[in-house]
Order: sequence, then C-alpha cells, then structure tokens
Amino acid sequence: MLLSENKNPEVVLIGAGIMSATLALFLKELMPGISLTIFERLNKPAEESSDAWNNAGTGHSAFCELNYSPEKEDGNIDISKAIKIAAQFEISKQFWAYLVQQQYLSSPKSFINHVPHLSFVWGDKNVAYLKKRFEAMSANKLFSSMQYSEDTDQLKNWMPLVMQGRDAGEKYAATRMDIGTDVNFGSLTDTMFAHLENSESVKIYCNHEVRDLEKQDDGTWKITVKNLVTSDSIITKADFIFIGAGGGSLPLLQKSDIKEAAGYGGFPISGQWLRCTNENIIQQHAVKVYGKASVGSPPMSVPHLDTRIIDGKKELLFGPFAGFSTKFLKNGSYFDLPKSIEWHNMFPILAAGWHNLPLTKYLIQQVTQTPQDRLHALKEYFPNAKMEDWELVIAGQRVQVIKKDEKDGGVLEFGTELVCAADGSLAALLGASPGASTAVPVMISVLKKCFGQNFNSDDWQVKLKEMVPTLEKPWAEYELLCQEIREWTGDVLELNM
Ligand SMILES: Cc1cc2nc3c(=O)[nH]c(=O)nc-3n(C[C@H](O)[C@H](O)[C@H](O)COP(=O)(O)OP(=O)(O)OC[C@H]3O[C@@H](n4cnc5c(N)ncnc54)[C@H](O)[C@@H]3O)c2cc1C
Repeated sequence: MLLSENKNPEVVLIGAGIMSATLALFLKELMPGISLTIFERLNKPAEESSDAWNNAGTGHSAFCELNYSPEKEDGNIDISKAIKIAAQFEISKQFWAYLVQQQYLSSPKSFINHVPHLSFVWGDKNVAYLKKRFEAMSANKLFSSMQYSEDTDQLKNWMPLVMQGRDAGEKYAATRMDIGTDVNFGSLTDTMFAHLENSESVKIYCNHEVRDLEKQDDGTWKITVKNLVTSDSIITKADFIFIGAGGGSLPLLQKSDIKEAAGYGGFPISGQWLRCTNENIIQQHAVKVYGKASVGSPPMSVPHLDTRIIDGKKELLFGPFAGFSTKFLKNGSYFDLPKSIEWHNMFPILAAGWHNLPLTKYLIQQVTQTPQDRLHALKEYFPNAKMEDWELVIAGQRVQVIKKDEKDGGVLEFGTELVCAADGSLAALLGASPGASTAVPVMISVLKKCFGQNFNSDDWQVKLKEMVPTLEKPWAEYELLCQEIREWTGDVLELNM
C-alpha cells in the first residue's frame, strides 16, 4: 500500500514489544505526521518476551552460537547463516546508534554492554569441530578478531568458573570474540516507547487487548479492542495494522482472515533459567559461554552460562531449560494452543509433529527434570556449582512457527516469519529466533514489503540511509564494510574498548 503524507494515515500496532517499538520509530521518522496507535494488553510495554529476564539478552552475532555454523556432510563448516546473523546485528546497532545520536535514547549503557562471547566444547570430536569452525570463521572479516585456544591456562583466564574442577585428562577448547554484547531489550523497548509517547499523534493504550480484526469494503481495517480495566469495548479503524503481539500474533493473524494466513500454526515452548543469587560467584564470571545443544534438542536450547547487565547490575544466568505449556504468552491462557487449531492448519500441525519426534522426546525429558537434573546440567558448565546459590526463574514463551510444506505436509521452523497481506495493509510477525537482535532488519522488511512504493521513493531512501547507512547491502558485503560500521556504532554505543 502507499502511505500518503496528505492524509495522515492511521496505523495500529498491536503489542508493545521491541518489534512494534522499532516499526513505530521508523514510521515516525519517515512520516512525522503519521498517526500511530499502539494497543498493549498488559499494564506496561515490554513485559513479555522483550523483558530483560524473559530472554537471554544476547546480541546474536553468531560469534558463539554453534548452531549458526553447522558442519556439512563433506566435513566443511557452513558459515553462510553466521554471516547473515552477524550482518543483521550490525544493522540493528546502526539504527540504535542513530537513535542515540538523535538523543531519543539517552544512555547506551542502559541497554547495550560489551560482554565477550565464547563457545566452549570438550571431547576430541567437538574440539575438532570447533577448530575447523574457527578456521572457517576467522578467515572472514566479520569474525577476524576471533581467538581460539586449547590451552587450559588460557581457558582458565577466559572463564575461571567454567574451568574450575575439570578433569585434567579431558580435551577442552574455546573460541572468544571480545566484541560480543549483552542487550537489555526491555530497557531499550521502554525507552523507545517513552520517546514515542512524547511525540505528537502517537497514542499508547496499555491494558487494551485487541480481540478482532475485520477488513472493510473501503480497504481499511475495523479493530475491536477490549479495555481490560473497564471491560468496555472500543472499535477503531486503521489503514495499516502491524501484529507485533509476540506469541499472541498467530491468533490475531487467524482472526484477520487474510488468505496468506492459511496453513500457519504455532507450537509453544516455554523456558526456565537458573539465576545465580551469590554475588561472589556472579563477580567471577564476565562473559557469555555457549556450548553445544544435545542431539534432538531445538536450536534455541543451546546451554549457556551468561553474564547479564540488567539495570546497571551484573547478573549470572544458566539455561535455558525448555518446557511445554499450551500458553502462547507467559501471561497467556492454557486454551491458546487448542484454540489456534483450525481446519486449514490441522494437517501441517500433525505432519510437523510426526517429523519432529526427537523434539517431543527432548521436551518430555526437559519437563520431567528434577532440581538435581538441572544442577547436573549446570555442572557441565560450572563444575563446582552448588544448588543453594541458584534459583529457578521462568523465562519468556516462544511460539515456533508451523507451516505447510509440499514435501512433508507441515514443517516446524525455529526462525521468524513475516506474513503480509497481498495489498500490504497488514503484516504479522511469527516465531522468535534469532529474535530481538534482528528487530531492525525485520522491521525494514515490513517497510519494504508493505510500503514498497514509499520505500523506493527518494525521500524514504535518503532518510532510511541516514538511519541505517548500509541499508540493503548484500550480507556478503558486510565483510568489507564491517570495520568502518563497527567503529562508528562502537563509538556511539560506547562499546569500543
Ligand atoms: C527464553 C528466551 C530467550 C531469548 N533470548 C534471546 C536472545 O538472547 N537474544 C535475542 O535477540 N532474542 C532472544 N529471544 C527472543 C526475543 O525475546 C523476542 O524475539 C522478542 O522479544 C520479540 O519481541 P516482540 O515485540 O515480537 O514480542 P513481545 O516482546 O512478546 O511483545 C508482544 C506484546 O504483545 C502483547 N500482546 C499480545 N497479544 C495482544 C493482544 N491481543 N492485544 C494487545 N497486546 C497483545 C503482549 O502482551 C506483549 O507485550 C529470546 C526469547 C525467549 C523466550
């Protein structure tokens, strides 16, 4: 669709998480007169997946996540996904740096901090894989500062907690990227909404749940919203709707009845962390250490021992432990999953279930874990850990995308999926990985897919390149540009060491 400056188009964004915040800021910068209304069912923004404690806060750059660089059948390492993820994060950092320069975000340290990213493995086979991965990745400029070591003293120096009490006869290896980051996506989202709230023609309604969407004959959308405090129903209209409702996006997409929604289903996976309560231990770790996921487990369940910086305070998390709940949101309903099953997605859901039996087995094993099992998992990364120093906390809920597949009938996907109406009047974001780190490139895709004419106009192109100087550069070119981009974003975001 074409947004026209003469008309002050009405845009409604559903959900006040990082995705809606990012899209709202883009639209406001590109069309200052635009009218934006955001509906959020909870009593404030960023209380679901975007909240700092509900996600791992890793600025996903493929520095330490081994699932982004799989070993191919011929024994070579495929780093194409790693390049794309790293380049996408560079895009996010550019937009955040722009927001800091405009003084929309005040203190970069309140949302992004420098925390080195390490991958750690043990055993001959895993060490051989890590060495090959290091050789493939360090040859690319995006990862050229990666260090590799099998030397126990060096490893102790990099991650003392992880190396204490280890068997001297075992082989260990790690890679380290000093330029890794920890991001408090909750604080970032809050600050973005605080800026938006002060802008003219932006309205944010918390405690307002969107219940229904209906396309009108004149091409606009009729939106039914329930005020959860007064129980009043409100009807409003919009030229464009963004469904950025996290786990709540699938039911709303289904309500829109657009034909592009057919065949989509969702599979919720919940998460838990062990959170360290012993200040002395927290202070002995200063990195993010990612390991290898066990066979059959979903990619986002890779275990990691993670330094976090939340509200200026250092924290230590281990996990995630996966779980199964039929809720689509942490603050959702147990009826979410059953209510999402409709005739058009029943077959893809059944087929995806059949083709993912190892995942089912993995989830059953995770759900039945005892505190001792969790301690055992923690000890693989921190051998001297004691249960009394850790507490179990509930993380956010992820809804994995299930979609139709010609060959298998249905597939379960672990990435994000942007579903747009053919006329560009609605976009919905499904899925959760690599998540908040890619909020900026994903929202640029919304602009491109839904407002193609505006996107290609000279005005938008000039403004977009001011916000994201490397807009639309092929991922492969980031290898050549990364030095320059990283110096600029590192300076503005106070990440340069
Ligand atoms: C355990 C876990 C670990 C993760 N780790 C990382 C990580 O390390 N790095 C990373 O980059 N990403 C990570 N992610 C992913 C990241 O958190 C999400 O991709 C991101 O926060 C999603 O943002 P969002 O705005 O789409 O959704 P949310 O932040 O969930 O926001 C959606 C909002 O919509 C609201 N809503 C829902 N339905 C309605 C309705 N009908 N009406 C009105 N409002 C509604 C909700 O209340 C919520 O506030 C992780 C996620 C989880 C769960």
